[in-house]
Parts: sequence; C-alpha cells; structure tokens
Amino acid sequence: MINLEALFNISYGLYIVCSGDKDKGNGYISNTVFQVTSEPARFAASCNKNNYTTELIQKTGAFSVSVLHTEASSEIIGNFGYKSGKDVDKLKGVNLIYGETGVPIVLDECISYYEFKVIQTVDVGTHILFIGEMVTAENIDTTKEPMTYLYYRNIRKGFSPKNAPTYIDKTKLDTKSRDASYKRFKCEVCGYIYDEAEHDIKFADLPDDWVCPICYTDKADFVEI
Ligand code: FE
Repeated sequence: MINLEALFNISYGLYIVCSGDKDKGNGYISNTVFQVTSEPARFAASCNKNNYTTELIQKTGAFSVSVLHTEASSEIIGNFGYKSGKDVDKLKGVNLIYGETGVPIVLDECISYYEFKVIQTVDVGTHILFIGEMVTAENIDTTKEPMTYLYYRNIRKGFSPKNAPTYIDKTKLDTKSRDASYKRFKCEVCGYIYDEAEHDIKFADLPDDWVCPICYTDKADFVEI
C-alpha cells in the first residue's frame, strides 16, 4: 500500500524556475530541482507539461532557478505558484536580470540563482524532466536561509499546487480521527485548506474581506470539504 503521508518526509527546497526571453518570459514555483552530478554541475528540474514555462524551456533550451528564502512573501509565492503565465505576466514588476542564455532570472526574495542549458529531456508522463548543465551560479543575499518545502508546509501552511510533481490531494488523506465539529474549507484557486481545528475562528465567522493566505483569493472561493 502507499501511505501518502509518508511522502511528506522527502526533503525539498522551494525555487522559482524561469525561462523565455526579454519579449516573453515566465516562471513558476518548483520544489523538484536537484543536483545530479558535480563535474560538470548538472541539475534536473521536473516541469508539468501544462505549465507555460515548460513550453518556454523547450523553446529556448535554457532555464534559471532562484532559491526563495524563508521570509519570502505570500505575494511572490501566490504570483509564481498559483497563477498561469498564459493568463498574466508574472514577471511584471519583478526585479530580475537576464542571464547568458537570455532567460529571465528572478532576484526578488531569493538568496541565490543558477542558470542552465538543457542537455537532455526525459518524458516522465505528466511532467518533463529537464537535465541542465550549469552556466551561472551566484548568491544574492547570504544573510537569509533557504526556504524548504517542510518549512513552507509546516510554518507557512502552504502546500503543492496541482501541477507540482509532489501534489497530494489532501481530501484523500485519512480523516477518521477528526473531531466532526470542526469543518474544513478548501480554496478552489490554490487548494489551501482552512481547517477549523487549527484556528480559533470558525470559517463562517471570518470577516467578508478575509482572503486566502496563500493566493489572496476571496473567501467566496472556498468550498466546504
Ligand atoms: Fe488560495
């Protein structure tokens, strides 16, 4: 059997992966970026086939990775993690540079960045695994700590959006031991769950101008689960 809760014990970081060029660039939040060899330095990034950034990586043959720090705002996570580059220009107003390969690299709320040229792609079903050779690596701010997925989930109460390789449908997790007087409400935009058992206020008593702490959508976009 597969206990989905056991999957929470795999460690990940949290990154902004970007591609494209000066005319049209895009990025998204990823936790599946990892080093696969040291000499030469090669990394892998797993990207959902539905992500606009995936298209751009295929087109340009390059991508950048910026490492978010633990104080990164919900705004930046909401912008890159829960919106589609097909609908909005996610790079608008973002502090960025263009790398050697021409791809945008996000500097805001990140501590380091890397740039890669794609040397291999592997079709893994819902996702494409891009293997990239590092062409640039630089620190932006060494005073802060990198955001880990565990920190994001436990301290910031966030979790994987639907397109992430590590997405878990929380409604499928075991809820047998729950106190039935506490209700749970799910944000239909980002999937955040407001669990009354974890808060002092019942969902119905939240003010009308309350918004999702992850993606800033209205209270009206929540449904009871
Ligand atoms: Fe949300």
